[in-house]
Amino acid sequence: MKILIANLGSTSFKYRLFDMDAGHAVQLASGGYERVTDYTRCITTMLETLVGDGHVESGEAIGAVGFKTVLGKDLSGCVAADEGVLEALNGFKEVAPAHNPAYAAGIRCFAEMLPSVPRVALFETAFYQWMEPAAYHYAIPETWRNLGIRRYGFHGASHKFVAERSADLLGNEAVADRVRRLYTDGPGNYCGAPLRVLSCHLGGSSSVTGIQNGLAVGSSMGFSPQSGLPQNNRVGDLDSMAIPYVCKMLGLSLEEAERQLNKESGLLGLSGVSNDARDIREAAEAGNGNAALATEVLVDSIRHWAGSFFFKMGGAEAITFTAGIGENDADLRAAVCAGLEDLGVQIDPQANTKAIRGTEGFISTKDSKIKVIVIPANEELVIAREVFRYVQAS
Ligand code: AMP
Repeated sequence: MKILIANLGSTSFKYRLFDMDAGHAVQLASGGYERVTDYTRCITTMLETLVGDGHVESGEAIGAVGFKTVLGKDLSGCVAADEGVLEALNGFKEVAPAHNPAYAAGIRCFAEMLPSVPRVALFETAFYQWMEPAAYHYAIPETWRNLGIRRYGFHGASHKFVAERSADLLGNEAVADRVRRLYTDGPGNYCGAPLRVLSCHLGGSSSVTGIQNGLAVGSSMGFSPQSGLPQNNRVGDLDSMAIPYVCKMLGLSLEEAERQLNKESGLLGLSGVSNDARDIREAAEAGNGNAALATEVLVDSIRHWAGSFFFKMGGAEAITFTAGIGENDADLRAAVCAGLEDLGVQIDPQANTKAIRGTEGFISTKDSKIKVIVIPANEELVIAREVFRYVQAS
Protein backbone atom coordinates (compact mmCIF):
# COMPACT_ATOMS: atom_id res chain seq x y z
CA MET A 1 0.00 0.00 0.00
CA LYS A 2 1.16 3.51 -0.82
CA ILE A 3 0.55 6.22 1.76
CA LEU A 4 0.72 9.91 0.92
CA ILE A 5 1.46 12.34 3.74
CA ALA A 6 0.26 15.90 3.09
CA ASN A 7 1.91 18.63 5.12
CA LEU A 8 -0.13 21.81 4.80
CA GLY A 9 0.85 25.32 5.82
CA SER A 10 -1.09 28.52 5.29
CA THR A 11 0.92 29.18 2.09
CA SER A 12 2.74 25.89 1.52
CA PHE A 13 2.01 22.32 0.50
CA LYS A 14 4.56 19.54 1.02
CA TYR A 15 4.13 15.85 0.47
CA ARG A 16 5.88 12.53 0.82
CA LEU A 17 4.84 9.21 -0.66
CA PHE A 18 5.70 5.99 1.18
CA ASP A 19 5.45 2.36 0.12
CA MET A 20 4.49 0.17 3.09
CA ASP A 21 4.63 -3.22 1.33
CA ALA A 22 8.09 -4.21 2.57
CA GLY A 23 6.82 -4.32 6.18
CA HIS A 24 8.30 -0.89 6.86
CA ALA A 25 7.92 2.55 5.29
CA VAL A 26 10.05 3.19 2.20
CA GLN A 27 9.97 6.75 0.88
CA LEU A 28 9.25 6.83 -2.85
CA ALA A 29 8.91 10.53 -3.52
CA SER A 30 8.73 13.93 -1.89
CA GLY A 31 8.08 17.47 -3.03
CA GLY A 32 6.35 20.68 -2.26
CA TYR A 33 5.15 24.09 -3.32
CA GLU A 34 5.50 27.52 -1.70
CA ARG A 35 3.31 30.63 -1.97
CA VAL A 36 0.29 28.44 -2.45
CA THR A 37 -3.09 30.07 -2.98
CA ASP A 38 -4.95 27.08 -4.36
CA TYR A 39 -4.43 23.56 -3.00
CA THR A 40 -6.39 22.02 -5.91
CA ARG A 41 -3.70 23.14 -8.36
CA CYS A 42 -0.91 21.80 -6.13
CA ILE A 43 -2.62 18.45 -5.72
CA THR A 44 -3.22 18.20 -9.48
CA THR A 45 0.46 18.98 -10.21
CA MET A 46 1.63 16.57 -7.51
CA LEU A 47 -0.53 13.75 -8.89
CA GLU A 48 0.74 14.39 -12.43
CA THR A 49 4.31 14.21 -11.12
CA LEU A 50 3.72 11.01 -9.10
CA VAL A 51 1.99 9.31 -12.06
CA GLY A 52 4.55 10.67 -14.57
CA ASP A 53 7.45 9.35 -12.47
CA GLY A 54 5.78 5.94 -12.25
CA HIS A 55 5.24 5.97 -8.45
CA VAL A 56 1.48 5.38 -8.76
CA GLU A 57 -0.74 4.43 -11.70
CA SER A 58 -3.29 7.09 -10.78
CA GLY A 59 -4.38 9.18 -7.84
CA GLU A 60 -6.95 6.50 -6.93
CA ALA A 61 -4.11 3.97 -6.54
CA ILE A 62 -2.91 5.79 -3.41
CA GLY A 63 -3.89 3.64 -0.41
CA ALA A 64 -4.56 6.54 1.98
CA VAL A 65 -3.73 10.20 2.55
CA GLY A 66 -2.52 11.15 6.03
CA PHE A 67 -2.73 14.61 7.61
CA LYS A 68 -0.75 15.74 10.65
CA THR A 69 -3.53 17.85 12.12
CA VAL A 70 -2.54 19.86 15.18
CA LEU A 71 -5.48 20.64 17.43
CA GLY A 72 -9.20 19.89 17.19
CA LYS A 73 -11.99 21.09 19.47
CA ASP A 74 -13.50 18.11 21.32
CA LEU A 75 -11.72 15.64 19.04
CA SER A 76 -8.34 13.92 19.00
CA GLY A 77 -6.79 10.63 17.99
CA CYS A 78 -5.97 8.92 14.72
CA VAL A 79 -9.32 9.18 12.96
CA ALA A 80 -11.01 9.28 9.55
CA ALA A 81 -10.61 12.84 8.23
CA ASP A 82 -14.35 13.38 7.79
CA GLU A 83 -16.87 16.13 8.59
CA GLY A 84 -16.22 15.65 12.32
CA VAL A 85 -12.55 16.51 11.83
CA LEU A 86 -13.43 19.56 9.72
CA GLU A 87 -15.75 20.77 12.47
CA ALA A 88 -13.11 20.17 15.15
CA LEU A 89 -10.47 22.08 13.16
CA ASN A 90 -12.90 24.93 12.62
CA GLY A 91 -13.73 25.01 16.34
CA PHE A 92 -10.12 25.84 17.22
CA LYS A 93 -9.11 27.88 14.17
CA GLU A 94 -8.25 30.86 16.41
CA VAL A 95 -5.88 28.75 18.51
CA ALA A 96 -3.96 27.26 15.57
CA PRO A 97 -4.49 29.90 12.85
CA ALA A 98 -1.50 28.83 10.73
CA HIS A 99 -2.55 25.19 10.65
CA ASN A 100 -6.25 24.50 11.15
CA PRO A 101 -7.72 26.42 8.19
CA ALA A 102 -4.98 25.03 5.90
CA TYR A 103 -5.66 21.42 6.93
CA ALA A 104 -9.40 21.88 6.62
CA ALA A 105 -8.97 23.26 3.08
CA GLY A 106 -6.53 20.47 2.14
CA ILE A 107 -8.78 17.70 3.47
CA ARG A 108 -11.72 19.14 1.50
CA CYS A 109 -9.65 19.24 -1.70
CA PHE A 110 -8.57 15.62 -1.38
CA ALA A 111 -12.18 14.61 -0.61
CA GLU A 112 -13.34 16.27 -3.83
CA MET A 113 -10.47 15.15 -6.04
CA LEU A 114 -9.90 11.58 -4.76
CA PRO A 115 -13.19 10.63 -3.06
CA SER A 116 -12.42 6.89 -3.00
CA VAL A 117 -9.03 7.29 -1.24
CA PRO A 118 -9.30 7.07 2.57
CA ARG A 119 -8.24 10.22 4.42
CA VAL A 120 -6.83 9.90 7.92
CA ALA A 121 -6.09 12.68 10.40
CA LEU A 122 -3.49 12.08 13.09
CA PHE A 123 -3.84 14.83 15.67
CA GLU A 124 -0.66 15.97 17.40
CA THR A 125 -2.69 15.74 20.62
CA ALA A 126 -3.57 12.07 20.04
CA PHE A 127 -0.85 10.58 22.21
CA TYR A 128 -2.20 12.47 25.25
CA GLN A 129 -5.76 11.12 25.11
CA TRP A 130 -5.25 8.97 28.18
CA MET A 131 -3.76 11.61 30.50
CA GLU A 132 -5.36 11.78 33.94
CA PRO A 133 -7.80 14.70 34.52
CA ALA A 134 -5.49 16.07 37.23
CA ALA A 135 -2.72 16.31 34.62
CA TYR A 136 -4.72 18.25 32.04
CA HIS A 137 -6.94 20.62 34.01
CA TYR A 138 -5.97 24.23 34.50
CA ALA A 139 -7.34 25.91 37.63
CA ILE A 140 -9.67 28.27 35.75
CA PRO A 141 -13.39 29.06 35.97
CA GLU A 142 -15.84 26.56 34.57
CA THR A 143 -16.88 28.93 31.77
CA TRP A 144 -13.25 28.91 30.55
CA ARG A 145 -12.97 25.14 30.91
CA ASN A 146 -16.17 24.81 28.87
CA LEU A 147 -14.39 26.53 25.98
CA GLY A 148 -11.94 23.63 25.90
CA ILE A 149 -9.11 25.42 27.69
CA ARG A 150 -6.97 22.66 29.18
CA ARG A 151 -3.62 21.04 28.63
CA TYR A 152 -3.53 19.01 25.40
CA GLY A 153 0.13 18.19 24.70
CA PHE A 154 1.68 18.27 21.21
CA HIS A 155 4.40 16.53 19.14
CA GLY A 156 2.31 13.41 19.76
CA ALA A 157 3.52 11.54 16.66
CA SER A 158 7.16 12.09 17.59
CA HIS A 159 6.79 11.16 21.27
CA LYS A 160 4.71 8.10 20.42
CA PHE A 161 7.41 6.95 18.02
CA VAL A 162 9.97 7.40 20.84
CA ALA A 163 7.71 5.41 23.19
CA GLU A 164 7.70 2.48 20.78
CA ARG A 165 11.32 2.72 19.68
CA SER A 166 12.73 3.09 23.20
CA ALA A 167 10.74 0.01 24.28
CA ASP A 168 12.21 -1.92 21.31
CA LEU A 169 15.74 -0.79 22.16
CA LEU A 170 15.33 -1.68 25.83
CA GLY A 171 13.84 -5.08 25.03
CA ASN A 172 10.42 -4.34 26.53
CA GLU A 173 8.20 -6.09 23.99
CA ALA A 174 5.04 -5.64 26.11
CA VAL A 175 5.32 -1.83 25.99
CA ALA A 176 6.36 -1.81 22.31
CA ASP A 177 3.32 -3.92 21.44
CA ARG A 178 1.00 -1.75 23.53
CA VAL A 179 2.23 1.43 21.84
CA ARG A 180 1.98 -0.11 18.36
CA ARG A 181 -1.71 -0.90 18.93
CA LEU A 182 -2.60 2.21 20.91
CA TYR A 183 -4.62 4.03 18.23
CA THR A 184 -6.44 0.95 17.01
CA ASP A 185 -7.06 -1.04 20.24
CA GLY A 186 -6.70 1.59 22.97
CA PRO A 187 -4.40 1.20 25.97
CA GLY A 188 -6.07 -1.86 27.62
CA ASN A 189 -4.67 -3.03 30.96
CA TYR A 190 -0.92 -3.22 31.24
CA CYS A 191 0.75 -5.92 33.28
CA GLY A 192 4.26 -6.15 31.78
CA ALA A 193 7.55 -4.83 33.11
CA PRO A 194 7.57 -1.07 33.88
CA LEU A 195 9.11 1.40 31.45
CA ARG A 196 9.24 5.11 32.27
CA VAL A 197 10.71 7.43 29.65
CA LEU A 198 11.55 11.13 29.81
CA SER A 199 11.18 11.99 26.13
CA CYS A 200 12.83 15.24 24.97
CA HIS A 201 11.78 16.42 21.50
CA LEU A 202 14.09 19.41 20.95
CA GLY A 203 13.95 21.19 17.63
CA GLY A 204 12.56 24.39 16.15
CA SER A 205 9.63 23.54 18.39
CA SER A 206 10.37 21.59 21.57
CA SER A 207 8.59 19.61 24.27
CA VAL A 208 9.23 17.10 27.04
CA THR A 209 6.78 14.25 27.62
CA GLY A 210 6.67 11.74 30.47
CA ILE A 211 5.80 8.28 29.13
CA GLN A 212 4.83 5.50 31.53
CA ASN A 213 4.43 2.00 30.11
CA GLY A 214 3.79 3.50 26.68
CA LEU A 215 1.24 6.14 27.76
CA ALA A 216 1.87 9.87 28.06
CA VAL A 217 1.36 11.09 31.64
CA GLY A 218 1.95 14.73 30.78
CA SER A 219 3.54 17.20 28.39
CA SER A 220 5.43 20.46 28.83
CA MET A 221 3.05 21.86 26.18
CA GLY A 222 -0.41 22.89 27.34
CA PHE A 223 -3.39 24.50 25.61
CA SER A 224 -1.34 25.50 22.59
CA PRO A 225 2.11 24.78 21.18
CA GLN A 226 3.19 28.22 22.48
CA SER A 227 3.72 26.83 25.98
CA GLY A 228 6.37 24.81 27.82
CA LEU A 229 10.03 25.08 26.78
CA PRO A 230 11.28 28.22 25.02
CA GLN A 231 10.76 27.54 21.29
CA ASN A 232 12.79 28.96 18.40
CA ASN A 233 10.88 32.25 18.34
CA ARG A 234 7.82 31.38 20.42
CA VAL A 235 7.67 32.16 24.10
CA GLY A 236 7.07 28.90 25.95
CA ASP A 237 5.78 29.17 29.52
CA LEU A 238 4.85 32.65 30.71
CA ASP A 239 2.90 33.85 33.73
CA SER A 240 -0.52 34.92 32.43
CA MET A 241 -0.34 38.23 34.34
CA ALA A 242 2.62 39.35 32.22
CA ILE A 243 0.40 39.90 29.18
CA PRO A 244 -2.08 42.48 30.59
CA TYR A 245 0.82 44.17 32.42
CA VAL A 246 2.95 44.53 29.27
CA CYS A 247 -0.05 45.67 27.21
CA LYS A 248 -0.70 48.44 29.76
CA MET A 249 2.92 49.48 30.30
CA LEU A 250 4.01 49.45 26.63
CA GLY A 251 0.65 50.42 25.19
CA LEU A 252 0.49 47.27 23.07
CA SER A 253 -2.68 45.88 21.60
CA LEU A 254 -3.48 42.27 22.43
CA GLU A 255 -2.75 41.35 18.80
CA GLU A 256 0.69 43.00 18.93
CA ALA A 257 1.53 41.30 22.23
CA GLU A 258 0.47 37.98 20.68
CA ARG A 259 2.65 38.66 17.63
CA GLN A 260 5.70 39.43 19.77
CA LEU A 261 5.14 36.30 21.86
CA ASN A 262 4.88 34.19 18.69
CA LYS A 263 7.55 35.77 16.52
CA GLU A 264 10.04 37.66 18.66
CA SER A 265 10.31 35.54 21.79
CA GLY A 266 11.77 32.12 22.64
CA LEU A 267 15.46 31.56 21.84
CA LEU A 268 15.40 34.49 19.43
CA GLY A 269 13.97 36.89 22.00
CA LEU A 270 16.37 35.81 24.72
CA SER A 271 19.54 35.68 22.63
CA GLY A 272 18.81 38.65 20.38
CA VAL A 273 20.90 36.75 17.82
CA SER A 274 18.91 34.09 16.01
CA ASN A 275 16.21 31.48 16.41
CA ASP A 276 18.68 28.74 15.43
CA ALA A 277 20.48 26.88 18.23
CA ARG A 278 23.67 26.65 16.09
CA ASP A 279 23.97 30.42 15.65
CA ILE A 280 23.20 30.92 19.32
CA ARG A 281 25.95 28.52 20.41
CA GLU A 282 28.44 30.17 18.04
CA ALA A 283 27.56 33.61 19.45
CA ALA A 284 27.83 32.29 23.02
CA GLU A 285 31.27 30.85 22.26
CA ALA A 286 32.28 34.26 20.90
CA GLY A 287 31.35 35.79 24.25
CA ASN A 288 27.74 36.93 23.75
CA GLY A 289 26.17 36.70 27.22
CA ASN A 290 22.56 36.79 26.03
CA ALA A 291 23.23 33.90 23.65
CA ALA A 292 24.75 31.88 26.52
CA LEU A 293 21.73 32.73 28.65
CA ALA A 294 19.30 31.51 25.95
CA THR A 295 20.88 28.04 25.95
CA GLU A 296 21.00 28.00 29.75
CA VAL A 297 17.28 28.85 29.95
CA LEU A 298 16.48 26.07 27.47
CA VAL A 299 18.52 23.53 29.45
CA ASP A 300 16.97 24.66 32.73
CA SER A 301 13.48 24.35 31.28
CA ILE A 302 14.17 20.84 29.91
CA ARG A 303 15.47 19.76 33.33
CA HIS A 304 12.50 21.37 35.04
CA TRP A 305 9.99 19.41 32.97
CA ALA A 306 11.96 16.16 32.89
CA GLY A 307 12.36 16.43 36.68
CA SER A 308 8.64 16.96 37.05
CA PHE A 309 7.82 13.77 35.11
CA PHE A 310 10.56 11.84 36.91
CA PHE A 311 8.81 12.65 40.18
CA LYS A 312 5.36 11.98 38.78
CA MET A 313 6.32 8.53 37.46
CA GLY A 314 8.40 7.68 40.53
CA GLY A 315 11.58 7.33 38.48
CA ALA A 316 12.68 6.59 34.93
CA GLU A 317 14.37 3.86 32.96
CA ALA A 318 15.35 6.10 30.04
CA ILE A 319 15.91 9.66 28.90
CA THR A 320 15.58 10.13 25.14
CA PHE A 321 16.60 12.93 22.78
CA THR A 322 15.12 13.52 19.35
CA ALA A 323 14.72 16.28 16.66
CA GLY A 324 17.21 18.87 15.39
CA ILE A 325 18.71 20.04 18.67
CA GLY A 326 18.20 16.76 20.53
CA GLU A 327 19.93 14.71 17.83
CA ASN A 328 22.79 17.10 17.11
CA ASP A 329 23.74 19.10 20.14
CA ALA A 330 26.01 16.92 22.32
CA ASP A 331 26.85 19.81 24.66
CA LEU A 332 23.20 20.48 25.34
CA ARG A 333 22.52 16.77 26.00
CA ALA A 334 25.46 16.70 28.43
CA ALA A 335 24.18 19.83 30.17
CA VAL A 336 20.67 18.35 30.53
CA CYS A 337 22.10 15.19 32.12
CA ALA A 338 24.80 16.90 34.23
CA GLY A 339 25.00 16.13 37.94
CA LEU A 340 22.39 13.35 37.84
CA GLU A 341 24.78 10.57 38.87
CA ASP A 342 22.93 10.11 42.18
CA LEU A 343 19.75 9.39 40.19
CA GLY A 344 21.64 6.82 38.11
CA VAL A 345 22.38 8.84 34.94
CA GLN A 346 25.89 8.44 33.55
CA ILE A 347 26.66 9.87 30.13
CA ASP A 348 29.41 8.27 28.03
CA PRO A 349 31.15 11.42 26.70
CA GLN A 350 32.58 9.63 23.66
CA ALA A 351 29.26 8.08 22.61
CA ASN A 352 27.54 11.41 23.25
CA THR A 353 29.94 13.33 21.00
CA LYS A 354 29.59 10.76 18.21
CA ALA A 355 25.78 10.86 18.12
CA ILE A 356 24.67 13.14 15.28
CA ARG A 357 21.45 13.61 13.32
CA GLY A 358 20.07 10.46 11.87
CA THR A 359 22.08 8.08 14.04
CA GLU A 360 20.37 6.09 16.74
CA GLY A 361 22.13 4.88 19.84
CA PHE A 362 22.82 4.83 23.55
CA ILE A 363 24.88 7.72 24.90
CA SER A 364 24.95 6.50 28.52
CA THR A 365 27.58 4.18 29.97
CA LYS A 366 26.90 0.45 30.22
CA ASP A 367 26.45 0.79 33.99
CA SER A 368 24.12 3.77 33.83
CA LYS A 369 20.93 2.77 35.67
CA ILE A 370 18.89 5.19 33.55
CA LYS A 371 19.70 4.74 29.87
CA VAL A 372 20.12 7.82 27.71
CA ILE A 373 19.26 7.30 24.04
CA VAL A 374 19.28 9.39 20.87
CA ILE A 375 16.36 8.42 18.61
CA PRO A 376 16.13 10.11 15.19
CA ALA A 377 12.80 11.76 14.38
CA ASN A 378 11.18 11.60 10.97
CA GLU A 379 7.69 12.89 11.48
CA GLU A 380 6.29 12.07 8.04
CA LEU A 381 7.53 8.51 8.32
CA VAL A 382 6.01 8.19 11.79
CA ILE A 383 2.68 9.47 10.46
CA ALA A 384 2.82 7.10 7.48
CA ARG A 385 3.21 4.16 9.88
CA GLU A 386 0.28 5.27 12.04
CA VAL A 387 -1.96 5.94 9.05
CA PHE A 388 -1.05 2.53 7.60
CA ARG A 389 -1.91 0.80 10.89
CA TYR A 390 -5.20 2.69 11.08
CA VAL A 391 -6.24 1.82 7.51
CA GLN A 392 -5.29 -1.83 7.96
CA ALA A 393 -7.30 -2.09 11.18
CA SER A 394 -10.43 -0.38 9.78
P1 AMP B 1 13.81 20.40 13.66
O1 AMP B 1 12.67 21.31 14.00
O2 AMP B 1 13.73 19.08 14.34
O3 AMP B 1 14.10 20.28 12.20
O4 AMP B 1 15.10 21.10 14.29
C1 AMP B 1 15.56 22.33 13.79
C2 AMP B 1 16.52 22.93 14.77
O5 AMP B 1 17.60 22.04 15.06
C3 AMP B 1 17.19 24.17 14.20
O6 AMP B 1 16.46 25.30 14.53
C4 AMP B 1 18.52 24.19 14.89
O7 AMP B 1 18.40 25.08 15.99
C5 AMP B 1 18.70 22.79 15.46
N1 AMP B 1 19.95 22.17 14.98
C6 AMP B 1 20.20 21.60 13.79
N2 AMP B 1 21.48 21.18 13.73
C7 AMP B 1 22.06 21.48 14.92
C8 AMP B 1 23.36 21.31 15.48
N3 AMP B 1 24.34 20.73 14.80
N4 AMP B 1 23.57 21.76 16.74
C9 AMP B 1 22.58 22.35 17.43
N5 AMP B 1 21.35 22.54 16.95
C10 AMP B 1 21.08 22.12 15.72
